[in-house]
Amino acid sequence: MTTMNSATAPDSYKGVDTVDVRNKRVIVRADLNVPLAGGQVMDATRIERLLPTLKDLASRGAKVIVLSHLGRPDGEKNPKYTLKPVAEKLGSMLDGVPVRFVEDSIGATAENGVAALQPGEVAVLENLRFYPGEEKNDPEFVAGLAKLGDLFVNDAFSVSHRAHASVFGIAHALPALAGPQMLAELNAFKLVLGLPKRPVAAIVGGAKVSTKIQLLTSLASQVDVLIIGGGMANTFLHAQGFPVGKSLCEPSFADTVEEIMSRAAETGCKIVLPTDGVVAREFKPNAPHEVYSAEETPADGMILDVGPKSLADFSQRIIGARTLLWNGPVGAFETPPFGEATFALAKLAAERTKSGDLVSVAGGGDTVAALNMAGITDSFTYVSTAGGAFLEWLEGRELPGVTALTQRRMQ
Ligand code: AMP
Repeated sequence: MTTMNSATAPDSYKGVDTVDVRNKRVIVRADLNVPLAGGQVMDATRIERLLPTLKDLASRGAKVIVLSHLGRPDGEKNPKYTLKPVAEKLGSMLDGVPVRFVEDSIGATAENGVAALQPGEVAVLENLRFYPGEEKNDPEFVAGLAKLGDLFVNDAFSVSHRAHASVFGIAHALPALAGPQMLAELNAFKLVLGLPKRPVAAIVGGAKVSTKIQLLTSLASQVDVLIIGGGMANTFLHAQGFPVGKSLCEPSFADTVEEIMSRAAETGCKIVLPTDGVVAREFKPNAPHEVYSAEETPADGMILDVGPKSLADFSQRIIGARTLLWNGPVGAFETPPFGEATFALAKLAAERTKSGDLVSVAGGGDTVAALNMAGITDSFTYVSTAGGAFLEWLEGRELPGVTALTQRRMQ
């Protein structure tokens, strides 16, 4: 285990559950960056996940101030990106807790909005990214936010890879605590990379090696079995001298593949590549397809999923593992029938988890979509919806927003 960040160290985070919040102004950095269309919230998952945090704080008599960004307004006030409809939706979902929307995030409007809060009430402030100081971690903007609260709670792991004012700067200006969602996320990572039950297997799939070099390198020195699928497996196969026809492949990353393979050999990590593929001539739904062994991929074919022999092999590896970490589909799952292997592996991992034989943690945008399509998301031990932050964490990097919570600011 050479690559480690602070989450693998035991317990350095203080949760807001350990603190008396009665009558305190508690600033909660949330991720309310939800998809909107015509002023309607299209997917309320992120709002739903925040409700227990807000209910708990409100029931303990805190004056709760919710901060978030929404989209990319590039530091300018733009009604298209107002958090107002999100605040309204949150209000409708938060039974019995009064929620008000405050039309600014710093300055007199924000200060008055917060001053009017009673214990047990929630204020959602306007989009932080209406100010350039948010992304720049500008000290004046940080001070403007910090004066609104007595305590700061980060409950947004998904934005904690950014050293922004509301994630990083403010955590140094106020006593900083981890929120329940943040703690759940960090605990899940501990299960897989802290002191995991071994053997640990990882499935890394998705389109390209080039976007996951750090991840592959880091995992090669931490897990026992590294299963490679998806488009990136083609780059591995090509680097090993196998034909990949017209498949998605990055030939210029052959050296990177060699480095990852030798890192794995040094640390005793077994790299498992597909030995056959489901091959089509066209990339479209229900395109005619055949199974070829890895030695025989035709020159005009595209490998769009792993084949049955590979699926059987990958399945055995999952059955032999006690812990599974998963990022990236093993095939072009959005285009039927090339999601079959991904769905079958997802169902197997879900069953093993339900029977208590496996700890399973998955994350990354496409992975969550694939698990949702397989209908088993709820059966995994933990599924992270954080994209960039999830990858950076697994790469072993320190995330500024998380590190800021480890500095024992409450002591
Ligand atoms: P990523 O965002 O890197 O995890 O990549 C996910 C994308 O990889 C999905 O859109 C999949 O359709 C795509 N993908 C997975 N396997 C293949 C493959 N064999 N050929 C082309 N695309 C693939």
